[in-house]
Amino acid sequence: MSNNTASKELKIKGKILRCPNCGASEADFDVDTGGLKCRKCRTVFMSPRVNEFGGVEELVGEIRGDGANDIETDDFVVTLRCPSCGANVMVNKDAETVSCHWCRHILESAERVPNGSMPDMLLPFKLKKKEALIEMKHFLRERNLFSARGFASDLSERTIKGVYLPYAVVDINATVRLSGVGEKSVGTKLVLRNTGRDDESSLETVYEVANYDLERDFNLVIDDLTIEASSDKFEHGSPVNTSSVINAIMPFDTEEAVAWDSRYLKGFSSEKRDLNIGQLRNRVRTQVNDIARHVAMATTSEFDRGVRWDDIKIDVQGVKWKTAYFPVWLYSCAMTGVGGKRAIHYIAVNARTGEIMGSVPLRPKIRTVIVGIPFVLTILFTVYAFMTNFSKHFWTNIACIFILITATIATAKIMKQKSREYSNVSERHMYELDTNISTKNMKTTNHYANTTIREDKRMIEGYNEEKRWGAHNLMMSEDPLEDATGIKSATYVKIVSYMIIALFLIAIAAMLGLLVGSVIDLAS
Ligand SMILES: [Zn+2]
Ligand SMILES: [Zn+2]
Repeated sequence: MSNNTASKELKIKGKILRCPNCGASEADFDVDTGGLKCRKCRTVFMSPRVNEFGGVEELVGEIRGDGANDIETDDFVVTLRCPSCGANVMVNKDAETVSCHWCRHILESAERVPNGSMPDMLLPFKLKKKEALIEMKHFLRERNLFSARGFASDLSERTIKGVYLPYAVVDINATVRLSGVGEKSVGTKLVLRNTGRDDESSLETVYEVANYDLERDFNLVIDDLTIEASSDKFEHGSPVNTSSVINAIMPFDTEEAVAWDSRYLKGFSSEKRDLNIGQLRNRVRTQVNDIARHVAMATTSEFDRGVRWDDIKIDVQGVKWKTAYFPVWLYSCAMTGVGGKRAIHYIAVNARTGEIMGSVPLRPKIRTVIVGIPFVLTILFTVYAFMTNFSKHFWTNIACIFILITATIATAKIMKQKSREYSNVSERHMYELDTNISTKNMKTTNHYANTTIREDKRMIEGYNEEKRWGAHNLMMSEDPLEDATGIKSATYVKIVSYMIIALFLIAIAAMLGLLVGSVIDLAS
C-alpha cells in the first residue's frame, strides 16, 4: 500500500501538506483512495486524521479549534453569495461556471464575499457520483406511484452536485443530575360509583398506582456530537420544509476526518458556515439534555406508566468545539405546487455512508381523488339503499355502509402515511442513538412515596422520558397531541375521533337518502 505513506511528519500546522516523494504542493483529491495525488509524480498521500475518538473524559474547560486560517490555503478558494437564495457557496478558484447547489442559480464572480475562517477538518468524498445517482434513482422508483409528474426528470450525473456542508463537532464531558417522579402499576380495582341519577350506581374499573421520587446521577461523555452549522439555510422559505432531508442523512464517520485542506474542494462546491458557536450553543444544550434523559431510560424500565423528569442539571466540566466540512451529494428540483407556490425539493446522499433521504412532491390532488372514491361510493350506496326500501335488507345495508365507511377511513390513513413517506418531514438524525456516548458512575435512587388511584391507563402527566427537543425545529411541533397526554391516550383520541367521523358520515348519507326517497315518493 504505497498510498498509505506516513505523511504526518510533513504536516506542520499552517503549512500545506506536500508530496512526500517529490515535495510538490500541486495535488488533486483522488476519490478512489480518499487521499491526494501529486500532479508531478502521481504519488498518493494521505492527510493526517485529526479527530480520533477518545480523551473526552479528561476534557476540562472550553476548547475551540482555531480552523486553518493560513493564507496559503485560503488562496485556493473563493466564496460567492447566491443572489437568489442567499447561500454562501465556496468553490475552488479555478472552477468555471458555478451554480448554487441549493437553487441552481448561476453565480457570478461579482458576488464574491470574504472567505472567512476555514473549518478545522473535513471528510473527503468516498461515495462516487454514479453510485449516488443509482441510490437516488432507486429512492425515486420506490416513490414513483403518487409522485408529481415530471419531478426529477432531469436527474443525471450532470444535475447532481457534490457539496461540502458545514458542521460543528462537539465533545462534552459533563455530570448529570436528574430528579423527577415515576409511576408503577400495582393493579386494578372495581369501585361502586354513583352515576348521578337518583340512587343508581355502577361498577367501574380504577387503577392503583405506586408513585416514586426518582434521582439519577452520572458522568456523561459525548464524543463528536454533530450539529449543522448553517441550519437556517435549510428552511429556504419554501412551503415544503426540506431541512429534515439534510438532517436525516447523518451521522458521518467523524473519527475519520482529516485536517482541513482546500485541495479536497476541487470539483465540489461547499457551503460557508453562517452560524457561530454562540448560536449553536442552545441546540447543543438541548441535545445533551435529550441524551441525558435517553441514557436514564435504561434505568427506569420498571416504571410502566412512565417517568417525568422535573429537574435536569447538566454540569459541563469540559467542552471542545471543532468545525468541519462533510460531503453530501445533492440534487435539487424546484416544483410549482398547489396554488402556484414554488417549492424546492431535495434528495441528499451522505457521501461517506450512502445514507439517503429526500422529499418527493405528491401529484396534486392525488389524496383527494383516492380518498374521494370510497367516500363517493359510500354516499351513493346509502342514497340508493334508502331509495329502495332500506328496511327490507336492513342488516345487509348497514353492513355495506359500514364497510364503505371503514374503507374511506382506511384510505385516508394510508394516503396520510404515503404523503409522510414522500415528504419525509418528520425524519431526523437520531443523535441520541447514533452518537458515541458513554456513562460512568450511575447512581440510582427510587424512593417510594405513596399509592394512589388513577381513573385511566394513561402515562404519567407530563411524561417526558422520550421527548427529543433538540431535533430539528420541525420535530418540536410534531403531533402536539402526543406531547400533551402521552402516546397511549393519543391513539385513544384518534380512534374516538374516527368513530365520530364515521357516525357523522352515516347521518349525512341517511338524511340524503331520506330526502331523495321522499322527493321520488312525491313525484310518483
Ligand atoms: Zn510528487
Ligand atoms: Zn441559491
